[in-house]
Amino acid sequence: MAQAKNVTVSQGVRMLFSLMTPNESSFATVQEVPTYVSQATPYFTGLIILEIVLGWLKKDGPRIKINDFITSLSAGVMSRLPQLMMRSLELSAYIYVWNNFRLLELPWDSAWTWWLAFLGVDMGYYWVHRFAHELNILWAAHQVHHSSEYYNLSTALRQSVTQQFSSWAFYLPLALMVPPSVFAVHIQLNLLYQFWIHTELVKDLGPLEWILNTPSHHRVHHGRNPYCIDKNYAGILIIWDRMFGTFAPESDHVVYGLVHPISTFEIWTVEFLYYPYLWQRFWEAEGISNKLSVIFKGPGWTPGKPRLGDIADIPQITGEEMPYNPTWSPAMQAYVLVQFFLLLDVYNNLLMDQTILSEMTVLLLTAYVLLSLTSLGFLIDQRANAAEMEMLRCVLTMALLRFGYIKPLVPLLAFPIEAFVLISAVYWSLQCVNQRINRMKKEN
Ligand SMILES: [Zn+2]
Ligand SMILES: [Zn+2]
Repeated sequence: MAQAKNVTVSQGVRMLFSLMTPNESSFATVQEVPTYVSQATPYFTGLIILEIVLGWLKKDGPRIKINDFITSLSAGVMSRLPQLMMRSLELSAYIYVWNNFRLLELPWDSAWTWWLAFLGVDMGYYWVHRFAHELNILWAAHQVHHSSEYYNLSTALRQSVTQQFSSWAFYLPLALMVPPSVFAVHIQLNLLYQFWIHTELVKDLGPLEWILNTPSHHRVHHGRNPYCIDKNYAGILIIWDRMFGTFAPESDHVVYGLVHPISTFEIWTVEFLYYPYLWQRFWEAEGISNKLSVIFKGPGWTPGKPRLGDIADIPQITGEEMPYNPTWSPAMQAYVLVQFFLLLDVYNNLLMDQTILSEMTVLLLTAYVLLSLTSLGFLIDQRANAAEMEMLRCVLTMALLRFGYIKPLVPLLAFPIEAFVLISAVYWSLQCVNQRINRMKKEN
């Protein structure tokens, strides 16, 4: 059976900007389609470093805070974990419809098919995204992506774990004629394009602003200024917003994030907090019609208001808005950053090797990644029980390093990493003892 190829460096860079050609990205079978998104990590990293460096050089460069940055990357990692266990639902549902209900079979090796799929997936994404904002039950998933109060490349990676379980439905009309192998390329390239537009460094792209979704257009989408609400849903082409009446150009200074900021960096809360809130609103609503409206109307809807709520209810921007950013020690910031990069290495190896690892190993490492995201999230959020969990995590990391489940990127670093993790385990054990003594003293 033909195997998927790895992307070249040139393709790796171009795939982030929707600059791939039909020739190099048309495949006969789904099995041959490269895992573009999984292979994108080094290119994401390169652009993030570039953004940080340019930000330092420019006075008004992007603001990046380690707590927000790691929370966004953690959400990105967490959202990809289900795909280690199963083929993406988007692709599985698509293949099912293609196998059972296709009306015609467009040739996989024609540039026409490729371009039709490009447009079809991009328009499908517009509606996925618009429904994700206009239906409260779907917003519960998508609000994760909007929860950062900063706007930089890391914000692009702040993805929802649960959104993938609803978005598949919107692409099914394409499955009536476009082969799954062509769809499997475009669903990835469409997502990858949306990475680079999450930046404040690119101001205006001139005439391209008419056709393409650009950093400027997408900044509006992430704004909580009244003029930004429910605008600019585009993936690659902004034409859909212009056609369907949801376009707004960037004007006043954009203040980013949710209308009601969540003020936490704990990853489980970031990912799932909206569901209990929705549940509560559902039970509090009076009568079946209001209950259904809570689920299926916009997040801003309340009884007596239009379907998407009243824009007059959105708080005006005062210019005094400050992102949530409690102080924490530089040493702890450095610690969390180093531990997070070690974790990213484990995660990247897991992505690359998932087909050759046993199911048990994939499960074990997935559980380790989840535990690590939780523990580092507790540290960033300065939770009381963070020390205990981090001590446990360090002991587990030691064991995984010892037994060869975790292999450092650079073999030479194996010893320093083990030493660092050991010292960390001792430090957190001491912290735990210290906390217990303090608690006992207080009780007496
Ligand atoms: Zn959105
Ligand atoms: Zn975005």
